[in-house]
Formats: sequence, structure tokens, C-alpha cells
Amino acid sequence: MKKTPKKSLIAIFISLLLLGNTSLFSAPAEDSLPDIGTTAGATLSINQEMAMGDLYIRSIRAQAPLIYDPLLTQYIDKLGQRLVKHADSVKTPFHFYLIDNPNINAYAFFGGNVVLHSALFRYSRNESELASVIAHEISHVTQRHLARLMEDQQRKSPLAWAGALGSILLMMASPQAGMAALSGTLAGFQQGMISFTQSNEQEADRIGMQTLRRAGFDPHGMSNFMQMLADQSRYSSKLPEMLYTHPLPDNRLADARNRANQYSTKAIPESQDFLFARVRILTKYPPEQEQRSHIEQLLNKYRQGTAEEQLAAAYGHAILLSQDKKYAEARTILSPLLDKQPDNTWFIDTMTDIDIEQKQYANAITRLQDALKKQKNNPILQINLANAYLQAKQYPQASQLLFRYTFNNPDDLNGWTLLTKAAGKQGKHNEELAAYAESVALQGKFDMAIEYLSKASALVKLGSYDQERYDARIDQLRQLQQSYDQYKK
Ligand SMILES: [Zn+2]
Repeated sequence: MKKTPKKSLIAIFISLLLLGNTSLFSAPAEDSLPDIGTTAGATLSINQEMAMGDLYIRSIRAQAPLIYDPLLTQYIDKLGQRLVKHADSVKTPFHFYLIDNPNINAYAFFGGNVVLHSALFRYSRNESELASVIAHEISHVTQRHLARLMEDQQRKSPLAWAGALGSILLMMASPQAGMAALSGTLAGFQQGMISFTQSNEQEADRIGMQTLRRAGFDPHGMSNFMQMLADQSRYSSKLPEMLYTHPLPDNRLADARNRANQYSTKAIPESQDFLFARVRILTKYPPEQEQRSHIEQLLNKYRQGTAEEQLAAAYGHAILLSQDKKYAEARTILSPLLDKQPDNTWFIDTMTDIDIEQKQYANAITRLQDALKKQKNNPILQINLANAYLQAKQYPQASQLLFRYTFNNPDDLNGWTLLTKAAGKQGKHNEELAAYAESVALQGKFDMAIEYLSKASALVKLGSYDQERYDARIDQLRQLQQSYDQYKK
């Protein structure tokens, strides 16, 4: 395929992502556009954007291979929030999600939701490069590119929108197939979107680079990452997926480089957490076709690098050994690291895995309890401890911790999944059903959630506190469902 028609799909892809939520629950008919209150010139309200974003994230949880690894989610959240703090015009809270996907891509949609593909870690050579992608996405949101694009397109060709909605599901499951379906559906109205989108890209680069620099990263990270993408598209027959959603004409790269050159280069200290996260993703979520030798190559490179890189190499080596069930060898590497840094959650997490594999539950539990005394409410330690309790068959302890955890972290599927197990093991079926209801609600399956909560309510004593709680939650979910129905028409 030539590049030009591919590039013209970008805007559609982005717009689909934002509109995708409307299509997930019912296939829209040609004449039933989502009622989002956009007559010509009107803008979406922030509340509408947030509701659409929330609905969309629920469907992503149900459809896409989201990575729920607590260390990785905390890492990208911290990095993202650091950038958000230095961005202008932030009107909604931001949320960052990681999807296990071997193609380089990132996209932003309503409600400050930013999705990153795991491949970004493979191709970002340092934290500034990774941060540049996130800063660019944040800028798409703060500049309201999606809302503007949606309003613009809906005004120009409302029918084309409706036709395009169904492709989103396919797109999530299989980008290539989804792309093919899209190019058929939308062949007619791609052309008008190109200039709109290219100016959006330039703007997201410009504003994104300001954010990047203010947050203390190297602005050259942006132009270097773009150069890498450009090289990939030049030397490979397949265009990097990211270039569908964010087209990269030569002037965009040149502009970014010129802009970065205006700033004096200052050495940015290497981020240890970035290196840990990179090594963890590559070892725990390797692309299917990826050879072990690729990962070992990177670890070898890090072994000869800076002190931070050497530490990351040792960490990655310990993970690989434990994956190969060479637990004793993994311990030999990890123990001295943990002795030096007893509060390091990357190390604690891997050591917990090893302890559990070797059924040394007491060790894991004591270590996690000690660490929690110093890092109160640390979600990584809490979720690890809950899991260790479960493995050790200490179900009441697991439940107690998970009640607190799910109260503080209601959007984390991990907590509800573990709570479902802990309750089930104790034969507390009402608690099991109620916890399971929350995990399906997080995936947008409100009917199912209400059904499970009704069953839970029927199991407990009439008029009891638990019954009141379940019934109140049913009402809440019904309201949420109703308010979202307007986006599903
Ligand atoms: Zn972009």
C-alpha cells in the first residue's frame, strides 16, 4: 500500500476511538447518531466528555488486553501525572492505561483517558522519549482536538460517522482487520480530514514539547522518537501503527527538531524507574514473535552501561530466572539487591512471586507487612499481600485487606478479582457476588452487575446493613446506566 491513503485514516482512527464507546453496546443504525448535543458550532460539555470517556474505558477493559500489573500501572500513572501537572488548560482528571500490544501506538480520548501500547517501552530509548509521546497525547486532550474533530465531522457528514462506528470493536481486537474495514467504510470522506489533523498534530507537538520541557524532560526526546518512527517507516514495508493515528510528514519532524534545538541541552539524569519498567515489560509481556535473545541482548547492553542500567539488568535477569523456575538462582541475584533497598517495590514484588512459587508464604507475608509499615497504603504492596494471604489460604485476612483496598481503589480490577476469590473460598456467596458485580460493572456490563447484586441482596437478611448496601449500589448502577444510554443510541 502507498503511504498517502494510509495517512488519511489517522483522523478517522482517532475519532473512532472517541466515538467507539457508542458502538460497543448496540450497533448504531444509520439514522441514529449518538445524542451528544452537538448542533453546529456547539461544543461538548466537559461532563459529557467525561461520561463518554468513562464508558469507553469500561469497554476497553472488556475488550482489550489491558495490563493490570500494579507496578507498571503505577509507573505510567506517575509519569503521566507529572506531565499533566505541567500542562495548561487541564479541565479533567487524567487516567493512563497500558495495553499489551506489539505495535507502537498511543491515543487519547475524552475524559483525559490516555492509552499507551506496551511496544512504546521497547522503542523508547529513554524516559524523555516515552514522556514525549504521553505529552503529545495530553495536548490532544487539553486542546480538545477530539471534541473539535467530532463536532466538525458530525456537521459535515453525519451518516459517515454512523457507518464508521461498528469498526471500532474490530479495530481493538485486530488493528489490521479493523483498518481494512474502515478504509472501505470511509473511503468517501477521508480527504477533508487530513489538513485538520495535520494541524492538530503540529499543535500537539508544540504544546506537548512545552509540557515535556517544563516537567524536566529533554525536549529532544520528542524529535528523537519521531526520527525513530520515520526511520522505521523508511526501512520497513509496514508503516508503524502510530503513524496512522499521528501522521508524520517531513515538516513535522523538522519543526520538532528546530523547536528542540532552541533549548540548550542539559543532561537529564537517567530514570531508574523507567529502566525497571522497560525491563519488566520486555520480560513479562514480550510480543509473541519476540525471541528471548532480544531481551537478553538488551540486558547485556545494560550490563555494560551505567549503574542504573546495571541494576535494571540484574532485575530483569532475576525475572527471567524465576520465569524459568530457577528460583534459587533468582534469589541469589535478588536478595543482595533487596538487602540494599528493602523498600524497593520492584524487588519486593518479584521476591513475593518467588516465595509464592516456592510456597514460602510466611516470608512473603512478613516482608510485605514490614514494608507496609513504612509505605502505608502502597497499592503495590497491598495487592501483593492480599495475593500472598490468598495463596497461604489465610482468607479472612485477605478479605479484610481487600475490603479496604477496593474502597480506596474502586477502579482497580485486581482488587475485585482477588476479593471475589477470597469471599468464595470462605463460602460467603453474597460477598463473592457483590465483588464480582463490581468487576463486571468496571467492564461496562451494568445489567450483569445489577443481576449479581440482586442475587447477593436476596442472600442476606431482610433489612440488614448488607442488603441496604447492595440495594443502594443497584440504584447507583441503574442511574449510571441510564445516564450512559444517551451515548449508546
Ligand atoms: Zn497526535
